[in-house]
Amino acid sequence: MDEKKQPIEAPSQDEQLELFFYHFKHNFYRAEQVYKRLSKKKGNFSFKLELNKEKGGKVSYNVPDEQTAKEFAVSMSRFLLPDSSLNIDNLLRTLQQLSTDTEYQDFLINVNQCLNKVKEGQFPVIMNNKQLRADDVFVELSSNVLFANDIDAAKYLDKLRNDPITGNLKWSLYYGYCLDVFKILSIIIDYLEKHDIHPPRIDRKNHCIFCKTTDGNFSSVEHVIPESIGNETLFLPRGYVCDNCNTRISKLEQDFVNSLPISMVKIFFGSVGKKGKLPSAKFSNVHLQRISPNAITMRYHVGAKSIPKATELPEGGYKLKLSLTTQFNPHIIARVLFKMGLGIVATDRGREEALHPRYDPAREYILNGGHFPNRLAIFKESHPSNVSKIEGAINNKEGTFIHFELLGARFIIGLEPNPKNMINEQLLDQAYVFDLWKDKPEPLHGSVKRTS
Ligand SMILES: [Zn+2]
Repeated sequence: MDEKKQPIEAPSQDEQLELFFYHFKHNFYRAEQVYKRLSKKKGNFSFKLELNKEKGGKVSYNVPDEQTAKEFAVSMSRFLLPDSSLNIDNLLRTLQQLSTDTEYQDFLINVNQCLNKVKEGQFPVIMNNKQLRADDVFVELSSNVLFANDIDAAKYLDKLRNDPITGNLKWSLYYGYCLDVFKILSIIIDYLEKHDIHPPRIDRKNHCIFCKTTDGNFSSVEHVIPESIGNETLFLPRGYVCDNCNTRISKLEQDFVNSLPISMVKIFFGSVGKKGKLPSAKFSNVHLQRISPNAITMRYHVGAKSIPKATELPEGGYKLKLSLTTQFNPHIIARVLFKMGLGIVATDRGREEALHPRYDPAREYILNGGHFPNRLAIFKESHPSNVSKIEGAINNKEGTFIHFELLGARFIIGLEPNPKNMINEQLLDQAYVFDLWKDKPEPLHGSVKRTS
């Protein structure tokens, strides 16, 4: 943000605890949704070990549905990977702060003992005189398969296939560990609910930055960037967005993430959304689906015309060239970007700033649609990456311009009616620019013809 930025007070310990607790529950419910989907599939997680004197041992494992099982592992990785803030050990330490009640503290000690057993695995496996532990196996397979790039993952999977006993043992430990820790988390959530244990309630004024209401329900924290393309650290605290607006906006966000260019870049780098599903996108002629964090399938329909083309770059990564189709509605894109923009004004400059009348036209546009007297620029080229970030210049006299880079797709908006987003030859060359004061904005064209 610009140099006039006023420092916002760092969150207090109670605020940090509130946010941590929110993250915990949010990620648990996401994993629970995948777990429920998994339970509906035929078959069970199972593991079979056969010993035969002549042929040696044979181990096989079975998962109900490979795709959903992977989504479950991705959801659970928030609790199981050591570098995650929600890592189960860190989680249990933080939960100790919620109450000094002896029964509760004893409960946590029991949970910890149970967890230590679970980390060792559902069955003892000694390999090369070393015990194979479930927690180590989870980290090993996650970093070498689930979150590795596809080439490294393929090599590693080949290695595992050449040694099927070890491979199948490891996958059994891997999924067994996900399930066991999930069960422990369910027990914790039940206990906390039954005994009404929660972080201290923070006395915070309710004032919605979108509709300005101070009444009604304010029950949740708001993600500044939609979750499925998200930056999981950018939040508006409870009290900043009313439940009504939250519901209205989340419908709009659905349309946004399912429309170009986000629908395309999220296939490459988006993560599991609210329901824990990996991203997929249907275009008129092709269906793209992320089948694990490192693999995508493409299914073409007969008579396919054009889709956004991805080119592999020599230095690694991809470049996408965007061509817009007729179903494309710039107002949907713009309204969600405006929502994120106002959110970033609130997190960076404080809620009072976001409530300033200069942003009233933006509020009206976000909630009710229609027109907005400024422009939207969507860059034609994106370099898909796993980063989503927002940068802006917030200035009373020179307008509020916000730059977005969402998984590599880039946009600029002007959050105030004036001044207008400047257009020049260079911008028109690189971006589709739309006048948002029109009903059906068409991309603007440059005035000078090019010869190359
Ligand atoms: Zn509201």
